Amino acid sequence: MENIDNVSAYLSIGLLVALLVWESGAPFFDAFRGEPRRRVIHAGRNLFFTVANAIMISLGFAALWLWAANMAAANRFGILYWLNLSPGAGLIVSLLFFDLWTYWWHRLNHRIPFLWRFHRMHHSDPQMDVTTANRFHLGEIAISSLLRVPLILLIGAPLWHLALYEALMFPVVQFHHANVGLPHWLDRTLRIILVTPAMHKVHHSRWQPETDSNYTSMLSIWDRLFGTFRMREDLHSIRLGLDGFDDHEHQSLKGLLKTPLNQKSAKSQ
Ligand SMILES: [Zn+2]
Repeated sequence: MENIDNVSAYLSIGLLVALLVWESGAPFFDAFRGEPRRRVIHAGRNLFFTVANAIMISLGFAALWLWAANMAAANRFGILYWLNLSPGAGLIVSLLFFDLWTYWWHRLNHRIPFLWRFHRMHHSDPQMDVTTANRFHLGEIAISSLLRVPLILLIGAPLWHLALYEALMFPVVQFHHANVGLPHWLDRTLRIILVTPAMHKVHHSRWQPETDSNYTSMLSIWDRLFGTFRMREDLHSIRLGLDGFDDHEHQSLKGLLKTPLNQKSAKSQ
């Protein structure tokens, strides 16, 4: 399990660096042209949430997840035990369940006004890039981490299944947030299975019918299956971000942390 976590950490740092280089050489949106300082400040704010969320998880939730996995194993509780699957089939079922839950959790964040208050901090980034992949409010991560306890119990998953899911899912999340574009044919081919940069740009559009689409994090099948898949021809005309949250007051670190308390609107318009 620790091996998976270590490989995952090195992979995400390596991918972060590679995508930052790609975004410097061939950005899809030229949001920071001639303003490297603004780009560094933007990245610093977003990466603050990586560190803060990682600390919060390691101090509390990781132990809770381990407890849940041990409880499931000790009582032979959960879908994997009930179906009596082979280890290989069990792993595939686990990965599919974790990804399915991530889809519905994300969809609920858009649907339930209380959850949207936290999740909109992720959407309020007007210059989405690879660092946005980590920009989640501590409140959102705390609630989702807590909900993983019953999820682990329900699946009956050993903790390394969750670690492997995160090791597979997070690079996809980093890639589809990156301010890069793939050739049309390649994006189209990849998004038969995975979420691509083109697909996720639509999700970060400030036009609500697009904001409320393309919820999935790793496998694109969930959006197709549940009717929330959406694409558009001209991706360059997308306006990223969230109306009412563009100014410094909302984009400063203090403003970001206060996003859930903002009375402006409980739901994107
Ligand atoms: Zn969202």
